[in-house]
Amino acid sequence: MAGTISATSVYTSLGVRTFINAAGEYTRLGGSRMPVPVVEAMRAAAAHFVEIEELQARVGERIAALTGNQAAYVTCGAAAGLFLATAACMIGANQTKARQLPNLHGLPTRVVVHRAHRNPFDYAVRTLPVELIEIGSTNLNAAPDEGELVQAMTPPTAAVLYVLAGRTPSPVLALERVIALAHERGVPVIVDAAAQLPPRENLWRFTQMGADLVIFSGGKDLRGPQSSGLILGRPDLIAACALIGAPQYGIGRTLKVGKEELAGIAAAVEWYMEQDEAARAQAAEDLVDCLCRLGLPSVRVERRFPNEADQPIARAWVHFEGADGPARRNRVVELLRAGNPSIEVGPGETPDCFYVNPMTVDADEEEMVLAGLEQALREVG
Ligand SMILES: *Cc1c(COP(=O)(O)O)cnc(C)c1O
Repeated sequence: MAGTISATSVYTSLGVRTFINAAGEYTRLGGSRMPVPVVEAMRAAAAHFVEIEELQARVGERIAALTGNQAAYVTCGAAAGLFLATAACMIGANQTKARQLPNLHGLPTRVVVHRAHRNPFDYAVRTLPVELIEIGSTNLNAAPDEGELVQAMTPPTAAVLYVLAGRTPSPVLALERVIALAHERGVPVIVDAAAQLPPRENLWRFTQMGADLVIFSGGKDLRGPQSSGLILGRPDLIAACALIGAPQYGIGRTLKVGKEELAGIAAAVEWYMEQDEAARAQAAEDLVDCLCRLGLPSVRVERRFPNEADQPIARAWVHFEGADGPARRNRVVELLRAGNPSIEVGPGETPDCFYVNPMTVDADEEEMVLAGLEQALREVG
């Protein structure tokens, strides 16, 4: 029926383009796709009333047990997790202080971060009235002196923020050293590991290293609901997150997590623990192998490993040689986008290249990606 949103073709009826995602797990491209058990869990969750605090506590226990962590809290995304984790480090598990925010009276407000770790997601931290204290540089070939970190952590310091997201513009102190130096002074360390999956061992690796709170996106490789994320780590700080997050009134009330997301992310973590990571990495290698064979004298196609976020999955770098490289590259991207099916590829470091990333390409889409690229390259060269 015209104008009706049907369950089977919701995007068609809205006039919204769908595509094969050969770019990667980008939020603006829809992140990732939920596997059937996750969708089923959300459907089942939608049919009943529950107490959200009880569900949040049980889901946290389940996810902590599955991932070998002491405690876990579900947020509505890793960015929300950064906000909540920072606030938790400011208040500890203190109900009065939780209600006090955003009033800062008597609370630690310094958050120490490598300058090389600054990134657009740290708006989530800066939304709190904290002071980011930067250490190190973005254009030196050496990590900052440990003394610089120590000096930056003068009281009252709430936390050190450490970002894991692929190569930094200049070297940084090792996470183990940051944890050791911070803990000597009683300062907790928050790790933004939003996209550090696979491998799944990262779900426990950084907390086992001693990080106090580690944050993952639920809507990237975990393939949970798009608006979900995990905070894993220290029980007292996880309890602090629960004092701030919805349904409590206060600064975290804007970060609501629904019963459907809570059930969905629990199912997603369960699903993720059972996946065959070696087989998946091999499938990516095989696709990249085939893509490399599409290269032409004017277009180089090469394997790149690991990928931009440091994930151990190969991808193909497609580089257009010559002065008109950027123009030909854009033409190919447009042809892929206009194709049937439409295909999105990932941005490159320079205007004359792009990446084909197998992470978000299902087995039944591989042939279409290969055929689409072959045809576009034949047309443009
Ligand atoms: C994706 C990402 C985030 C945000 O994750 P959401 O779940 O989309 O909120 C934060 N930090 C880093 C490093 C990321 O890659």
